[in-house]
Amino acid sequence: MIIVLRPNSSQAEIDHVLDRIKELGLKPHLSQGEHRTIIGVIGDENKLQAEPLQAIPGVEQVLPIMKPFKLASREFNKADTVVAVGKVKVGGGSLAMIAGPCAVESREVLNEIAGHVKKAGANILRGGAFKPRTSPYSFQGLGEEGLKILRDVGARHDMPVVTEVMDPRQLPLVEKYADMLQIGARNMQNFDLLKEIGQSKKPVLLKRGMSATVKDMLMSAEYILSEGNPNLVLCERGVRSFEDSTRNMLDMSAVPNVKGLSHLPIVVDPSHATGRPDLIPSMAWAAVAAGADGVHVEVHSCPEKALSDGPQALLPKRFEELMDRLRRIAEVMGKSLS
Ligand code: PEP
Ligand code: MN
Repeated sequence: MIIVLRPNSSQAEIDHVLDRIKELGLKPHLSQGEHRTIIGVIGDENKLQAEPLQAIPGVEQVLPIMKPFKLASREFNKADTVVAVGKVKVGGGSLAMIAGPCAVESREVLNEIAGHVKKAGANILRGGAFKPRTSPYSFQGLGEEGLKILRDVGARHDMPVVTEVMDPRQLPLVEKYADMLQIGARNMQNFDLLKEIGQSKKPVLLKRGMSATVKDMLMSAEYILSEGNPNLVLCERGVRSFEDSTRNMLDMSAVPNVKGLSHLPIVVDPSHATGRPDLIPSMAWAAVAAGADGVHVEVHSCPEKALSDGPQALLPKRFEELMDRLRRIAEVMGKSLS
């Protein structure tokens, strides 16, 4: 439910509404804009009836939100949310160009890749220090050492950094080094992790689960938002399908679909979606043309030596070409790259 207050409502009236909601065992979510104050009500709406609330002084309108996701819905917030990752803005016309290797492997390799992607126009550096691998015998990431390298290399190339958190126990450590916390596809419905990250102040990149619907993804977003963290960017990275010529099936319609349903920014990861460097550039271009707020691409200077996801890594030169055309598409779409 959304409670819209009158433009001239006093602080005492606002506090009164907030108290009333809390008395009913529900959680108010205050959003104070320049002209309007809106209060979202989180919890079992059956405890709340619109009519009595409508009678409280200062209340203009009480609106039910029909969608099961409330704070994530476009109904709750008409304007596009803009998420700040360091000095980079994501959403509302600003594109995130997230690039880097799948995993942080060494300071030298990351530094080389970061130099290339920065020069080509990337504005956020990625790299996993805790890797969710299918096999326990595969490279699992460098852990804290990888986080330190990522932070240092990001600072050296003046890029904020994003890296994955796989477990709530890793959160305090990852928060120390990362500018943005990534929740991987395999953890999109790890609800304890979502709740924990919802209490963090750091922006979050939430990747769509490989067998999750768009609605499931927005419900996961709701877990984070309802814990108090509004700095959320969604990521379409393909879903499992019968098609076996690509790693996953990229659901490009998820971009305008999410835009209609939600105010949250959404980026597209054509690397994990296709698993094929020959398809990544065209899917990145298509993503921006579809209205995405950025792309997320794995780049490696020597894919054959990469410790994870080498076969899908784009060479720096190809990433540069991707960026050159992407800039022109961004211009047509009225988007800018910071
Ligand atoms: C990754 O970004 O390296 C990753 C593991 O992605 P996903 O969770 O989408 O598979
Ligand atoms: Mn990867």
